[in-house]
Amino acid sequence: MTRIYDRVALIGLGLIAGSMAHAMRRAGLAGEIVGTARSTETRETARKIGLCDRVVDTAAEAVGDADLVVLCVPVGVMGAVAREVAPHLKPGATVTDVGSVKRDVIAEVAPHLPEGVHFVPGHPLAGTEHSGPTSGFAELFDNRYVLLTPDEGTDRAAIDGLRRLWEGCGANVEEMDADHHDLVLAVTSHTPHLIAYTMVGVADDLRRVTDSEVIKYSAAGFRDFTRIAASDPTMWRDVFLSNKDATLEILGRFTEELFALQRAIRTGDGEHLHAYFTRTRAIRRGIIEAGQDTDAPDFGRVPVARRREDAAE
Ligand code: NAP
Repeated sequence: MTRIYDRVALIGLGLIAGSMAHAMRRAGLAGEIVGTARSTETRETARKIGLCDRVVDTAAEAVGDADLVVLCVPVGVMGAVAREVAPHLKPGATVTDVGSVKRDVIAEVAPHLPEGVHFVPGHPLAGTEHSGPTSGFAELFDNRYVLLTPDEGTDRAAIDGLRRLWEGCGANVEEMDADHHDLVLAVTSHTPHLIAYTMVGVADDLRRVTDSEVIKYSAAGFRDFTRIAASDPTMWRDVFLSNKDATLEILGRFTEELFALQRAIRTGDGEHLHAYFTRTRAIRRGIIEAGQDTDAPDFGRVPVARRREDAAE
């Protein structure tokens, strides 16, 4: 048990905050965890399941005397929440966030924070398609990356404290420039989500033509898209509106590649297709070798029939 902060305040009590609460408890990283969320319903649920040591009604109340404040709300409301809590922050406290976009969040949050409070923006590269106070679990960050994007000149001790907290939650921590973060994430997360949303939207349009066949015969490729496209609509709306430039840049490149593949199919250029698919297959191997996914067939999913048997036992 290594306590890093005496009091941690979680603003927003969804998947990421909930998982942080579980992971901090697992390792004894915080003396007290105080949480709050916008709706009475979420706060009540969090109280009922004992997600935090204390659940309070307002963000202003939650940050009082907190050594670390973690903003775990959608990217589009980070600025408003920072404005609300700013006058109540303890001098010397660290404020961080878990938003999926960094440059825009820094621009929205930093101007509100008083002198003497350290801002260390962060982003855990871990998540699921579930949301809300009951969706979190302690293992979410195990062996996943957390990227910290502090400005030059940020207090080293504040950065190191947050780094140790995330490492205690099981994560690997790296520091990165905010603009670089946004470009990397546009490639690895944001654009793939947009493509999944599009593909599922297209299939849904088609479903009206083919009756229910798209759902009934949904094979692995489409099914995997539907998991991603089931992600929280508010969160992802905000991600695209906040990481506009990088996402549009990558979408432009994506469209060019798509046209090239479309042309190869039309002209029967099997060599082009084969070479392309060989290159992409190697990327999957790299992800598995880096320990960022399983090499079990079908992502290690348990077949539905076996799940039923297990449940019956
Ligand atoms: P979530 O499960 O939907 O939870 C969001 C929380 O924010 C809820 O407690 C919600 O309160 C609260 N909230 C929403 N709007 C608010 C407002 N205007 N004022 C105050 N509180 C508000 O979301 P999440 O998945 O944990 O995501 C939180 C952040 O983590 C986002 O910035 C997201 O970009 C980032 N992130 C997400 C993932 C992922 O895969 N999900 C991964 C990495 C980073 P109510 O329940 O009362 O509405």
